[in-house]
Amino acid sequence: MSPHDPATRSTPDRLAPDRLATVNESIARAAALAKRKAADVTLIAVSKTQEAAAILPLLAAGQRDFGENRVQEAQAKWPALREAYPDTVLHLIGQLQSNKAEEAVVLFDAIHSVDRSSLIVALARAMDKVGRRPPCFIQVNIGDEEQKGGCAIGDLAALLSEARTASLPVAGLMAIPPAGVDAAPYFALLAKIARDHGLAGLSMGMSGDFETAVTIGATHVRVGTALFGART
Ligand SMILES: *Cc1c(COP(=O)(O)O)cnc(C)c1O
Repeated sequence: MSPHDPATRSTPDRLAPDRLATVNESIARAAALAKRKAADVTLIAVSKTQEAAAILPLLAAGQRDFGENRVQEAQAKWPALREAYPDTVLHLIGQLQSNKAEEAVVLFDAIHSVDRSSLIVALARAMDKVGRRPPCFIQVNIGDEEQKGGCAIGDLAALLSEARTASLPVAGLMAIPPAGVDAAPYFALLAKIARDHGLAGLSMGMSGDFETAVTIGATHVRVGTALFGART
């Protein structure tokens, strides 16, 4: 069977690189549209719930930034994968309990879900103890939704000031807009708030809307389904 045979192409280890190429092309197109450089956008492959066997083809294809939403799951999967690919960059994108702050600081290279005062205190203490200072994003509840993670827009200024006092390295803002509506206005609002606070990083955009996010200024897009297929 030739490597170009459609049957071979649809085996799982062929699919992942194809999907990666497609997502990277879409990011490049959206960046060009906004007169931005594609290199200024970091694609985070969201590998939560994915087994090592699904992650390895993406690593082999050159993808290096990955996102996980649970500390424990990442601890189980990534040490072995990182041995094979030491330049992997791991992003924590899910809610973090303060009692896991130290483990998170040990394992992750960036933390996208800082959303409250107690967590800032826990992370600052963990960073001092561990001697690593992974960049942090403050997560904002941009749609003011009852059940959503993230700080209220009105609490952001106080949280940022606490983070600076605690020497927490704040890289920018992160948000997950409300589901089922156009995300663009929420991305634009997050970008404006970040600008108002002099923050360069914008972690926004998922499989359904990452191109829109890139045109509005995303520096980090978090893409799972479009790279791995639907999660089971
Ligand atoms: C799961 C998840 C993603 C990826 O979502 P997809 O729709 O699969 O791309 C992005 N961000 C966060 C915070 C997530 O939990």
